[in-house]
Amino acid sequence: VIAVQLDDIRFRIAAARRMLARNGCESYVAGHVSVRAPGEDAFWISPFEYFDETLPDRVIKVGLDLRLLEGDWEPSPAVQFHASIYQERVDVGSVVHTHSQHVSTAVTRSEPVARYSVLAALFEGEQAVYVEDGTTPPVEGRLVAAALGSQQVLLLSNHGVILVAPTLEEATMRAVLLEEAARFAVAAASAGGSPVGASAPARRDFLNGSVLPAMWESNLRRLRRTDLDLFAAAS
Ligand SMILES: [Zn+2]
Repeated sequence: VIAVQLDDIRFRIAAARRMLARNGCESYVAGHVSVRAPGEDAFWISPFEYFDETLPDRVIKVGLDLRLLEGDWEPSPAVQFHASIYQERVDVGSVVHTHSQHVSTAVTRSEPVARYSVLAALFEGEQAVYVEDGTTPPVEGRLVAAALGSQQVLLLSNHGVILVAPTLEEATMRAVLLEEAARFAVAAASAGGSPVGASAPARRDFLNGSVLPAMWESNLRRLRRTDLDLFAAAS
């Protein structure tokens, strides 16, 4: 086990994975978290394993051509869409793909997650849907990037979700809140509840500017108490 700094991208990706796991976004051994390597045609990406066991030295650096640049496992075609998105979207610094339970349930409707919770304001007008026919797993990266277009969320029907954001922290916490919004949507729809209307931009600004950063810091403090193996890998 190598020791890394707390601000090392490999540590932050490992921490993000554990935050996702403890917030209902565990996605068996598939599902990945990646971050663009600044100034390079490359990105850092998490391994095929459960989210709550990821350590910094399991995170590898991969070229946009899917060549392994640093680390000890070979990238598979299943991570190709990360490269395609970084290629197409200069505004994207991080990509999170999960199969979290409630988002995965909601997307069986092949439409955006309905707005039953005020949290859904974060995703208003930002969700695209990709209908998978199941014949081409993994789906070709450029098709995924094209379906995402300029949106922040790509719902994959009967599969899961891809979220993109400028930073790892934002992408990770938005994944947590989308799962929460989907949990509301699934439960409220079956309870006969009513959705909320369009939300004010101020709510979205509050969620983005105050709630997301506080959630990341708060989750990091929780990990410090619980995930001793992760912090033992940092100096
Ligand atoms: Zn998947």
